[in-house]
Amino acid sequence: MLLRLPTSLSEARRCLAEGAVPVGGATLVWAQWQRDGFPEQAMSLRRLPEATVVDGETLGAAVLLHQIDDRVPEVLRRAAASIGTGAVRRTATVGGNIVGSTLRCLLPPALVLDARATVMDGDGTYEAELAEVVAKRPLMLGIRWRRPLVSAYRKAPGDVGGPPPLVVATAVHAEQDGGRRLFTAVRDGDDVVSGSVPATADPGRVLDALEGTALGRLPGETRDVVRREVTDILGRADG
Ligand SMILES: Cc1cc2nc3c(=O)[nH]c(=O)nc-3n(C[C@H](O)[C@H](O)[C@H](O)COP(=O)(O)OP(=O)(O)OC[C@H]3O[C@@H](n4cnc5c(N)ncnc54)[C@H](O)[C@@H]3O)c2cc1C
Repeated sequence: MLLRLPTSLSEARRCLAEGAVPVGGATLVWAQWQRDGFPEQAMSLRRLPEATVVDGETLGAAVLLHQIDDRVPEVLRRAAASIGTGAVRRTATVGGNIVGSTLRCLLPPALVLDARATVMDGDGTYEAELAEVVAKRPLMLGIRWRRPLVSAYRKAPGDVGGPPPLVVATAVHAEQDGGRRLFTAVRDGDDVVSGSVPATADPGRVLDALEGTALGRLPGETRDVVRREVTDILGRADG
């Protein structure tokens, strides 16, 4: 297998056109390649500047999970810190998690940050919804989001190899009209559902409005956890 390490977008596009398969830290694909055979060419984005950036509004796809620190919002930082073991976090990447893993602990945080992905195909780079990235698995260069006022992440305890633990991510954003908006995303089993509603002064009305989104169809116990998280984040946004 030839490992290609493009240093520019045009070079990455050439690698893609020549059939190179994206690879992050290979924490998931290595075993699969050993079993099914290695691809002729793979492409790591770790030398591509656009894919290694970390700041308050951007996270590159080649960034390692353990490099996600207080430059990014709390919801993303806490999610990254909760993934796997220290060894996994020192090797696995943002791209491998959002595009390539089944658990995708970074996906609910990205949804509540109202993030969009920068992806590449044969025609060049473009912005895509996260849902499209999950469904079509294009080459992802990174994600960009709106900086929130506050954000939070809660992951229930779980066993390795057991069912995916419940994840609740929340964020409150300032709106252009002076109002605020609450974003909530939940991983319940294998599904991720999300919704956003105006974050008005009365938490009871915000919770009622949330019931009218896809989150209202979650099981009762899960909705109780969501309600607690939402009440908490609204209190922090006011404080
Ligand atoms: C012990 C263990 C515990 C774990 N626990 C968790 C957990 O709690 N929560 C969680 O979310 N995950 C968990 N994971 C999964 C972990 O996050 C993944 O191993 C990791 O996200 C894969 O990252 P990687 O960079 O190694 O991807 P790779 O193995 O390199 O690639 C995986 C797939 O993603 C594709 N890919 C990689 N980068 C890109 C890109 N930039 N664009 C498009 N496609 C790309 C590859 O082509 C491949 O199909 C765990 C893994 C292990 C081994």
